[in-house]
Amino acid sequence: MMRTTCPYCGVGCQVEPEVREGRVVRVLAPDLPPNHGALCVKGRFGLDFPFSGKRLLYPMVRERKGAPLRRATWEEALDFAAGKLLEVLRRKGPGGIAVFPSAKTTNEEVYLAQKLARALLSTHNVDHCSRLCHSSSTAALSRSLGGASMTNPIEDVWKTDLFLVVGSNTTETHPVIAAMIKKRVRQGARMIVVDPRYTGMAEAATLWLRVRPGTDVFLLNAMARYLLEEGLWDRAYVEARTEGFAEWRASLEGYTLEAAQEVTGVPKEGIAEAARLYATTERAGAYWAMGVTQHTKGTATAQALVNLALLTGKVGKEGAGLNPLRGQNNVQGAGDMGALPDVYPGYLRVAEEGPRRRFEALWGVPLPEAPGLRMTEVFAAIPEVEAIYLIGEDPVTSEPYQDHVKEKLLALPFLVVQDILENETTPFADVVLPAASFLEKEGTFTNTDRRVQRVRKLLDPPGEARPDWWITQELGKRLAQALGRPWPTYPGPETIWEEVRRAIPEMVGGISYARLEAQGVRWPCPEEGHPGEAVLFREGFNTPTGKARFFPAPYTPPAETPSPDYPLTLSTGRVLFHWHGGTLSRNSQLNQAYPELKVEVNPIDAKRLGLEDGEPVYVVSRRGRIRARAWVTERTPEGVVYAPFHFAEAPANRLTLDALDPVSRIPEYKVSAVRLEKA
Ligand code: SF4
Repeated sequence: MMRTTCPYCGVGCQVEPEVREGRVVRVLAPDLPPNHGALCVKGRFGLDFPFSGKRLLYPMVRERKGAPLRRATWEEALDFAAGKLLEVLRRKGPGGIAVFPSAKTTNEEVYLAQKLARALLSTHNVDHCSRLCHSSSTAALSRSLGGASMTNPIEDVWKTDLFLVVGSNTTETHPVIAAMIKKRVRQGARMIVVDPRYTGMAEAATLWLRVRPGTDVFLLNAMARYLLEEGLWDRAYVEARTEGFAEWRASLEGYTLEAAQEVTGVPKEGIAEAARLYATTERAGAYWAMGVTQHTKGTATAQALVNLALLTGKVGKEGAGLNPLRGQNNVQGAGDMGALPDVYPGYLRVAEEGPRRRFEALWGVPLPEAPGLRMTEVFAAIPEVEAIYLIGEDPVTSEPYQDHVKEKLLALPFLVVQDILENETTPFADVVLPAASFLEKEGTFTNTDRRVQRVRKLLDPPGEARPDWWITQELGKRLAQALGRPWPTYPGPETIWEEVRRAIPEMVGGISYARLEAQGVRWPCPEEGHPGEAVLFREGFNTPTGKARFFPAPYTPPAETPSPDYPLTLSTGRVLFHWHGGTLSRNSQLNQAYPELKVEVNPIDAKRLGLEDGEPVYVVSRRGRIRARAWVTERTPEGVVYAPFHFAEAPANRLTLDALDPVSRIPEYKVSAVRLEKA
């Protein structure tokens, strides 16, 4: 039986799909890390989307705006796409084009797409969906520690005595990790959960802090201030391994327990207890996800977690650390491979001369010095940005303020959509390029704890679909020929990976395909024979001084707060049976188990509106309205409604606002003002 990697979440479970007569008939899981035989419902029953009737089967071209998409040959479609991109390049320069690689494609495919942007189109306008999920974690971790990933491996769960889980509904979003954590809690470990909703994690918690949406940073700052007052901090660690302490300490002045109770709604005794438990447990690990990051103060909130961990000496130790749980299966890999506007592969800064020289030598072309635009900035810059090469993304579903995104896409002169399935963005495309799914190609994915794992081909792609690396390579050939730039022909993904190993040997130099036959290997792994680093920053940090840096993490109120017309707060997110924009899970049998949008409404709010459980309801914001079914439940607090964003026919992102975090430019998905109307 062939082993490959689950295409859904960043846990990166190893799966053995059994294929009969061109169909997945069952999925087994080997006793290998990271999942050791365990799978969630998505890995077990959700791998049938490659057989969906919505597969894109042949290239399509729209000759001019207003004309319909028509079937084309690969030659025609690629020539057309290359010709249009060159036209924009000549007219607007490199700033007129953006390339968005996908966190659902392999490392090799991401590497090639960002190389096409940088080495052929001379633009750093490269970004991916991390902009919408963990870019704020990346910003905080990079500036403080010099690295943007989980510091500790998943299996450290078994060594952890206290879990601090902030803004992560792990039970539904990373179910296999949640099951491990809960088992460890049953063995005696303690768990503090900070979340407005009564999630599966809150249910299993030793201490649950029901924080008001968007106030976590106040709570975390108050915990730090309390620990400083009580002397419950690691002075030796702070003095030896950090800098910026005095300035940060001064920034905590107003974050008293009393003020925190007022702002967050959490009793001050609970905040103090959480702080004491975290500080006094040697092996205490912090875990977080979108509840922390998707705010206009997302970077500040992630920073407050980093500061707390440094204050208590939790980084660089087993069973502890800072652990952002990455969403998409290869979102860690997409960042590692340079699908970001300010860094090359290996997080080497585009603004620094050393990295630029390294990639100029490797690729044989001069490279631009200034960082590019971020994904959310690219959409704002349309029509100044005239062309987007979009791979495996559905911005109409995933970006905030959907009507605005649609307006922008209508104003965009040229859009290439490369994907496996038709989605909400496909109708806006000028060229559609059909891609192979994870079952139909070779390559590697990197999971949330930095483990590089193989993706293996079990089936031929349907129709004329081709692997993303092949499509990007063919498009690149045409651009390179016209521009007179070098562009090697790669016989397959392994050759691309070999170039990655040469490009960033300090990160993945020791990880060969041959080595990955047995099981995944974690980076950093600089040479063959190196086991791969499990715990980061045991010795020093990856900063110029080798020390970690504290940064002030100020609380600011949400960009939109409830008003008489819109008296409720909307928070968006995910459910166990679906995944992100729903392109994969809603085209699998999972959709039968969870076929429509249910909006969580607290019983007090429901009573006020005369709303019964299961009744249809409209959720209305200043930007639009969607129809859903009310789920009257105490899971969500009074005044807060919760809507997953997987449903194209009732898109939660029609309601969300596009206010951005000033540092990372992540949107504020977690707090919008809405009202409910009986449908
Ligand atoms: Fe797939 Fe994530 Fe579920 Fe594992 S936990 S089976 S990687 S969706």
